[in-house]
Amino acid sequence: MNPWWQNGSCDPFHDKDSPCLKGNEPIFTIEATSAQDIQAGLKFANEKNIRITVHNTGHDFLGRSSGASSLSISMSKINGTGFNPSYSSSHYSGPVIKVGAGLRGYEVYGYANSLGYRVVGGDCPTVGLAGGYIQGGGHGSLVSMYGMAADQVLEWEVVLPDGTMLTATPDQHSDLYWALAGGGGGTFGVVLSVTIRAYQDVGLISGARLTINNSSSIPSSVFWSMIGNYHAALPTLYSSGGGSVEHDIGANQLFGISRITAPKWTTQQLRQWLSPITRQLDSYNASYSLNVTSHSSFHDHYVYYQGPIPAGRYGVAILAHSRLVPLDVVTSATKNSALTQFFRNSTEDSSTSNVIYGCVGMDASAKGPVAANAILPAWRTSAMSCIMFIPFPYTASNNSVKQSDLHTLMDVVAPKLRAITPNSGTYANEGNFALNTWKEDYYGKNWDRLSLVKKQVDPNGLLYGIRNVGSEKWTLHDDGRLCKKR
Ligand SMILES: Cc1cc2nc3c(=O)[nH]c(=O)nc-3n(C[C@H](O)[C@H](O)[C@H](O)COP(=O)(O)OP(=O)(O)OC[C@H]3O[C@@H](n4cnc5c(N)ncnc54)[C@H](O)[C@@H]3O)c2cc1C
Repeated sequence: MNPWWQNGSCDPFHDKDSPCLKGNEPIFTIEATSAQDIQAGLKFANEKNIRITVHNTGHDFLGRSSGASSLSISMSKINGTGFNPSYSSSHYSGPVIKVGAGLRGYEVYGYANSLGYRVVGGDCPTVGLAGGYIQGGGHGSLVSMYGMAADQVLEWEVVLPDGTMLTATPDQHSDLYWALAGGGGGTFGVVLSVTIRAYQDVGLISGARLTINNSSSIPSSVFWSMIGNYHAALPTLYSSGGGSVEHDIGANQLFGISRITAPKWTTQQLRQWLSPITRQLDSYNASYSLNVTSHSSFHDHYVYYQGPIPAGRYGVAILAHSRLVPLDVVTSATKNSALTQFFRNSTEDSSTSNVIYGCVGMDASAKGPVAANAILPAWRTSAMSCIMFIPFPYTASNNSVKQSDLHTLMDVVAPKLRAITPNSGTYANEGNFALNTWKEDYYGKNWDRLSLVKKQVDPNGLLYGIRNVGSEKWTLHDDGRLCKKR
């Protein structure tokens, strides 16, 4: 889906008389409906020395689900579900839901809701649940309540690169269980299903959206201290199980909150928490709208804010990268002010003012995982993950615009945010292929163990993805072919 990985030749912005080229798309696709289809595809690719790609929804920012010259295995037709109200293992007893590889987030939320349950999933309705999302860690609005998506996993049903099918749990094939839960999609095997914890969907759930139409009446110093204060207040929201699902910061004093999810607060408590902002807005007569809601299920809350289902409200037409912002950077006055100053400088400087920041806030350490896993450790000490993005320059006929936007993002802005968030990292699922420090930023101290698991389950490196564990052993050529480094 991400336009960077297409070549632009087939989009409506290009001359209709120019040829529509395949670009980065695979040559053939197996539309898998069973484990046997996947096994056959892997065997064929292994024997014929063909590049393979595993594709679910195609949302991946790094282009890891497509690849020129490759044979693709599409997972979108493997979409069964299952429910067990009384699952029992040495790690967890309680309700679970089994999610087939191809199901998208909104389908899983809908299925859980039909049973009276909720699960941890992403914010975007069309991101899959059991594919790259959960294998990369998976954030969402219920993380402060229940942990990250990969923290929920009890079982992975997986086909290994050599065709073996097995179930990895904390007790069986435990290294593989650990690696699949956060170590990155398309790396260790082809996942057929995951079994995850489910939670009864009871009680009212509060939510809010704040849209500021015009903040020009607010003096800059007041505006930026309002942003700093908002960040400093986030831990209070998290301690009540809540999350801030993307607040945006951009040029011309752009600020807005797409959604707050507050499962344990009344609407009055949520209004109260937001009042430092609304008081400022009122006192400067800024034009804004605040929508505070109460729904009787997480599903209704989700659909209200993320709908219309299934399309949702996100676009993929962006150049993006992200950074995890540690908790102490929002709570310490000095660090908070350095962060605020960074946002201010970046959005006020004309050379970088096209970068918009979309931060999601949660406490990923609030509830423990089913068992130890490979989620990037920096998540556990972070207050938010901030995506920095530039709308994709579709209409630019000239490649140099794309390159210059990439330069702004990766060489100018990202290193500055990295410098004020030392020892943190980046959520690989929302990272950028052009990051040089990708091993440490995307995998942190998990790198060595992940590399060992990769070597055990995929010694020939059949599963390749840009910036995945094991990708360092390959050179990717312009035509999509992979050559093993000597
Ligand atoms: C609009 C948008 C919104 C997003 N919102 C969120 C969000 O709220 N929370 C969040 O955490 N992330 C979010 N993301 C990032 C998301 O987690 C990644 O894009 C993720 O890679 C998507 O996984 P997928 O399986 O749906 O997509 P794909 O692009 O199909 O696959 C991604 C990767 O996983 C591999 N893969 C897919 N299926 C399998 C499988 N069954 N077995 C093994 N490997 C597999 C692929 O080979 C590829 O490497 C968002 C992305 C976009 C574009």
